[in-house]
Amino acid sequence: MTTVCCVCNKTKKRSGWVREQPSDKTSLSHGYCPECFCKVMKKINDYSSKQLSSSEA
Ligand SMILES: [Zn+2]
Repeated sequence: MTTVCCVCNKTKKRSGWVREQPSDKTSLSHGYCPECFCKVMKKINDYSSKQLSSSEA
């Protein structure tokens, strides 16, 4: 199973995340690399804090 970041399309290798076409295209799994995962979590946090502040106002 090869994991590909659905944001930046990096492929997960034993050595880490690299910008490379996955060799095995039949068993691709989409996820987030640590970098994009942090960005997504920030976005979610921003979004939820905005939701909170708008509901308070
Ligand atoms: Zn990524």
